[in-house]
Amino acid sequence: KKVLIEVKDLKKYFQVGRHQTLKAVDGVSFKIYKGETLGLVGESGCGKTTCGKTVMGLYDATGGEVIFDGVEIHSLHKKEKKEFTKRAQIIFQDPYSSLNPRMTVGDIIGEGIDIHKLYTGKERQEKIYELLELVGLNREHALRFPHEFSGGQRQRIGIARALAIEPEFIVCDEPISALDVSIQAQIVNLLIELQKKKNLTYLFIAHDLSMVKHISDRVGVMYLGNMVEFASSNELYDNPLHPYTKALMSAIPIPDPKEEKKKTRIPIEGEIPSPVNPKPGCRFAARCRYATDLCRSETPKLEEIEKGHFVACHRVKEI
Ligand code: SF4
Repeated sequence: KKVLIEVKDLKKYFQVGRHQTLKAVDGVSFKIYKGETLGLVGESGCGKTTCGKTVMGLYDATGGEVIFDGVEIHSLHKKEKKEFTKRAQIIFQDPYSSLNPRMTVGDIIGEGIDIHKLYTGKERQEKIYELLELVGLNREHALRFPHEFSGGQRQRIGIARALAIEPEFIVCDEPISALDVSIQAQIVNLLIELQKKKNLTYLFIAHDLSMVKHISDRVGVMYLGNMVEFASSNELYDNPLHPYTKALMSAIPIPDPKEEKKKTRIPIEGEIPSPVNPKPGCRFAARCRYATDLCRSETPKLEEIEKGHFVACHRVKEI
């Protein structure tokens, strides 16, 4: 399998006031293979969206590398970066605020085509119609405005816009979180269908583990700027090893009420700590019932516990 993106020890810090540093992404590494979906999950504030945006080049990295098809993107000059943005696109969480309300749907979708000078005139128009149909809308929608559409339809417009310049890689930044549950599955299924048709590679960001399972080949779990567990989707769901992942997993409702009753829910204590000037040691220690002194002083490294299954926990073998 070909590696399309390699992220090495990526860091993204923000300065807060004069003396404080918010370590949103603090040393994260992973690879994404061409044509696969990598899910990235965690609670809000865990750094997953910042990670996605830094991988896209929307934020400069504080440290580390993002290698896209052999090229480190953060060292690119403006013109080369424009070339790169043609190959990578993002779908945003909020289909309400991410579409310009004063532009017609056709122009929203056509914007990228114009910026990259891909098509003009009739060809451009045909391309827009084709994209609308591809995402399950129709050509009459091109002349309408975003407010005339439902949330699910707006997300379809966002997807059409991302696809307009024929990217290879798409960061899906919580694309279903703002939608009704009944609509979520439709959007996920559309993304899966488009991936097959266009051989797309996705980084799919979500806080909902159950949806990520359906779409992802492999999943990374983030906690306070660190990757704490990483495995194939099936392996992670059948055999979660990190105490944080186990707790997240136990919170997913099981549709069968009998099974649901049998299940023990593992509570995660307290609030997620602030990523500003984080304490040394394991970032999960303040909320982990297995924490020891070692956990509070030394940061556990992400290690391969079973083939392809990585965990960052000092006590993974005992618990
Ligand atoms: Fe819990 Fe320690 Fe493992 Fe962190 S390293 S998850 S505190 S047992």
